Amino acid sequence: MTNRRQFLKNASLMAVTGVCAAKTDLFAAPVSHATHANAKKIIGLQLYSLLVGKKPEFTDDVPGGLKRVAQMGYSTLELAGYSSDGKIGAVPMKDFKKYADDAGLKIISSHLNPPPREYTKDNLESIKDFWKKAAEQHAAIGCKYMIQPGQPATRSTEEVAFVGEVFNEAGKIAKAAGLIYGYHNHSGEYASVVPGGTAPITDVREGFGRKLPEGIKIIYDGMLEATDPSLVVFENDVYWTVMGQHDPVAYMKKYPNRIRLLHIKDVEVLGESGMMNFQKIFETAYANGINEFIVELETYNGGTQFQGVKGCIDYLLNASFVK
Ligand code: MG
Repeated sequence: MTNRRQFLKNASLMAVTGVCAAKTDLFAAPVSHATHANAKKIIGLQLYSLLVGKKPEFTDDVPGGLKRVAQMGYSTLELAGYSSDGKIGAVPMKDFKKYADDAGLKIISSHLNPPPREYTKDNLESIKDFWKKAAEQHAAIGCKYMIQPGQPATRSTEEVAFVGEVFNEAGKIAKAAGLIYGYHNHSGEYASVVPGGTAPITDVREGFGRKLPEGIKIIYDGMLEATDPSLVVFENDVYWTVMGQHDPVAYMKKYPNRIRLLHIKDVEVLGESGMMNFQKIFETAYANGINEFIVELETYNGGTQFQGVKGCIDYLLNASFVK
């Protein structure tokens, strides 16, 4: 995460004007995406996918890069690289929105983290201030979701519960601005904690007939239980769930009303590793009424990031199980 955050801080990006999103109920009818005329399947791209790799082609030409993304068949965008001075990378948010509008891409979501990695009663107000400013800036570009992708320190059951309270506060701030706050996982949330613990427990796992011993809780479950469903949604990164030795399908079935967005991700280009059961993931997501599918590609070794991102959407456009 440090490298990613540092990269995003340094990334030179872009901007936008827009209309404030209407007051939103977390379970309101899905927004209709203003999209690319020929796109029947509504697929989003996490912008981070174009900010990594050997050559930052995207940051050389942001308006052109967004047009390339739309031409591939993507319809929506999830931002990365927000800073509190109202920029996405180096680009003012209002300019970024204009570039996205010009390309025919709808900005639906944004990834951002308040600076503290340890949440305490002493820094709670600074965390709330971060979200208030961010909510105002994201509402101004019509963005619906603010999603936190960074895991705060969660070494004990008590810390998980407190982090959940802080997420609820972020959710209240987002809701007041007409937005929805959400949390995105990596694999660390599938470690476990105990009351009074001093570190996450990674060597005790559920599955294959094993149950966790009494008193041990998976951090992700703790986060779900500690947050108010009317204030906090979850964006499940299906790849990182698998890397955390858990099944994203089982989690969607266990928490059908809480997981409302998915990061569609594989080792590199979607479908190539064989380790992700995307058909079952999409079928379960549709059964749960999920309609936000956001592709993410981390570093791609088979070509440029643009080539990898195209490979991902080609896979989804060609997949009969993607509607
Ligand atoms: Mg992700």
